[in-house]
Amino acid sequence: AYRKGGYHAVRVGDAFAGGRYVAQRKLGWGHFSTVWLAYDTLSSKFVALKIQKSAKEYTQAALHETELLSAIADGDPSNSKCVVRLLDHFMHAGPNGQHYCLVVESLGDSLLRLIRYNRNKGIGLNRVKTICRSILVGLDYLHRELGIIHTDLKPENVLLVSTINPAKDPVRSKFTPILERPEGCPNGGYPFSMNQKKLKIMTRRALVKISKRRMSMGGYVEMERSLDGIDLRCKVVDFGNACLFDNQISDDIQTRQYRAPEVIIGLGYSFSVDMWSFACIAFELATGDLLFAPKNSPEFTEDEDHLALMMELLGRMPRQIATAGSRSKDLFDRYGDLKRIRRLKFLRLDRLLVDKYKFSETDANSFMEFLCPLLDFDPEKRPTAAQCLQHPWLNE
Ligand code: ATP
Ligand code: MG
Ligand code: MG
Repeated sequence: AYRKGGYHAVRVGDAFAGGRYVAQRKLGWGHFSTVWLAYDTLSSKFVALKIQKSAKEYTQAALHETELLSAIADGDPSNSKCVVRLLDHFMHAGPNGQHYCLVVESLGDSLLRLIRYNRNKGIGLNRVKTICRSILVGLDYLHRELGIIHTDLKPENVLLVSTINPAKDPVRSKFTPILERPEGCPNGGYPFSMNQKKLKIMTRRALVKISKRRMSMGGYVEMERSLDGIDLRCKVVDFGNACLFDNQISDDIQTRQYRAPEVIIGLGYSFSVDMWSFACIAFELATGDLLFAPKNSPEFTEDEDHLALMMELLGRMPRQIATAGSRSKDLFDRYGDLKRIRRLKFLRLDRLLVDKYKFSETDANSFMEFLCPLLDFDPEKRPTAAQCLQHPWLNE
């Protein structure tokens, strides 16, 4: 991917925008970009630098993301609406071409890391509620004030404001910024001068060292406890696939496990697709497991399995909905039953929470009352983010 049209290889200490931003370390990457922690020498603050692949279509996508992020920033001068803040953008010329760069506020770990960090056991309902409130504030702002549908809400795209281990948080601890390229140059994992084999051996050694250290600290037991002091404020990021309600670009939206039924069936969509994904995230935070993990098989497709899993948990899909989409004829018979998956094993959400995840009856009931309306097969019946924020479960 580090070729013409692809990613830009960055080294620690590299300068951007005429020397204003200096790369510190890699924060993450996606299909479109690599994201680096950078030091802004003008404001003396750490920022996140999203460096897009250089091919034309990626630049186009970044321009679109900039437009949405600008509207988001303009409508929220106090930066309190739980959505990532755009700070700057510019072009950067590299050996692979011209890269569009977005500068946004630097945030911490994603919810996915939080879930994994806690050994996929769920993070406790009080923490779930806190995170849900932030996401809902963000969604309410996007939906109601800006008319933006995110369309790719998932744990990777919600970032904590801080990192799980605050001592390692350069933005909030006394971390001395690197202002020029260090000797020997640690490069964040990119092959540039070292040969591949040497790099692999070094990486493997480092991993063994880290896992040994973890074991000597008492393994994961200590890690679970350490969730206690974490500031759980979070923000929605990644507007690369987002769209305005009245300017929808694609029918093929959302990451599989977080995809709403109307998208699978081809019924068209609205803001309520984000509410479906939000419910999937809330369940995952509470249990550590995906709400829906569809698979394909020789007998049926992933879409069919996905719809079957939804119906097993939520009851049969109303016939008028099942048969109304552009893909309905492939999937359902005229009674609204799946053509290729005939036998469903129904298990209600509250039973699942009690039996499999050992929730108390009270916790299971109140959580189900919050989640189930969001998982209505009828998109129009799902509560809005503003309505959700009023729900007793969040305000107990
Ligand atoms: P995708 O394939 O998901 O569309 P993308 O190339 O559009 O990816 P992002 O999802 O915006 O890139 O960012 C990639 C990763 O970089 C994130 O999952 C996250 O780990 C990290 N990241 C992004 N923005 C920030 C930020 N503001 N602060 C800290 N880390 C960030
Ligand atoms: Mg992403
Ligand atoms: Mg993206």
